[in-house]
Amino acid sequence: MKFTAAAALLVAPLAVLASAVPKVERKITYDGYKAYRIATHNNAKSVTDKLAPLAVVPFNQNTRDHVDVVIPPSEIAAFEALGFEAEVLHEDLGADIREEANSFAPYQEISAQAIPSDTWFDAYHAYADHITFFNDLQAAFPTYSEILNIGASVQGRQLFGIHIWGSGGKGSKPAIYFHGTVHAREWISSKVVEYLAYNFLTQYNDTAVKAIRDNYDIYILPFVNPDGFVYTQTSNRLWRKNRQTRSSSSCVGTDINRNWPYKWELSGGASTDPCDETYKGLAAGDTPENRALVSFTQSLSASKGIKLYIDWHSYGQYILIPYGYDCSKRATNHAKQLSLAQSTASKIAQSYGTKFTYGPSCSTLYATTGDSVDYMQDVAKAEYSWTIELRPTGSGGGGFVLPASQIRPSGVEQWEGIKYLLASV
Ligand SMILES: [Zn+2]
Repeated sequence: MKFTAAAALLVAPLAVLASAVPKVERKITYDGYKAYRIATHNNAKSVTDKLAPLAVVPFNQNTRDHVDVVIPPSEIAAFEALGFEAEVLHEDLGADIREEANSFAPYQEISAQAIPSDTWFDAYHAYADHITFFNDLQAAFPTYSEILNIGASVQGRQLFGIHIWGSGGKGSKPAIYFHGTVHAREWISSKVVEYLAYNFLTQYNDTAVKAIRDNYDIYILPFVNPDGFVYTQTSNRLWRKNRQTRSSSSCVGTDINRNWPYKWELSGGASTDPCDETYKGLAAGDTPENRALVSFTQSLSASKGIKLYIDWHSYGQYILIPYGYDCSKRATNHAKQLSLAQSTASKIAQSYGTKFTYGPSCSTLYATTGDSVDYMQDVAKAEYSWTIELRPTGSGGGGFVLPASQIRPSGVEQWEGIKYLLASV
């Protein structure tokens, strides 16, 4: 999509301000901005060509049938004059972001070795509180878990996580391996993997959960892009990439999920423009976050192997199996992956009727190169390698800013799906 000019408008003033006055960043409020889903009828180019003169903000990548965009107040009249077939995702994005911020709850301090309260899943939280939550959760189960620190981000934050095991002992079984929040604005992904970690640890007395824990080592990294996530909380709720600067551009950030060293060199599934939302970097694996993730992944692959990898994203409600880089290529165990994606989607729907679309990543959604799922499948040799795009679908309202009331149901339906999946692989 040719949203580069608009993205530069959004990003450039921040970058200038940040370099001129360190530590002072203007927060973008998005007050009065409207988000729309535009029907493309398989002609996304005609839509994006018409949008080109407007200062639109890309809200999600175009899929086969729609483009989602955010329109600043000054452009709404011009946008509506274009006469698109469009539905409103956010009537006032700024108001919805404020409501989300107002729903933040402080972390409830607990006594030593107590289990954190599960009210954690009724609100969003500051980044520092997420670290405390994981440390406290792990401390309550010291015999069966440990905190991981696999490397540092551009700005020096640890890529932390939790490793959970069962009766076989630490590191004795194939890996179940989850990444969250590679795209900074996809807040629900960290909450859902936290919900899964919480349940894996607290429900070991459940027969089905015990079987999973005794058969696998579980590795969960909730924030593989911590700098970007912090930036969404301090400066720009819609930030996606990491916070890496490049001497060649005033634009900030590389998409860590287009930076994996596999099929990175192909064109069509990422951007070579540093101002773009899907900027792939100057070379494969040239983000510190990706280097840390590759190194950790290789260690899992070389030890007991990776049974299942899931990269947790939002939004759209999809279960995506390989591949991203080629719409006709299929994994050698494609039929099994597709059938499991279908039955997992059915299981997820049993909780609240939430419908997840499933299929190969490229042909179901769009082409991606240098992405984690293709790397995990072909290089790290994961048996199953998936992306799950969480709530909402977009149709019916909402996007990255998902009301806090949907955190718990998102966790519940995915927990049911994961328990089913891990009993079935
Ligand atoms: Zn994403």
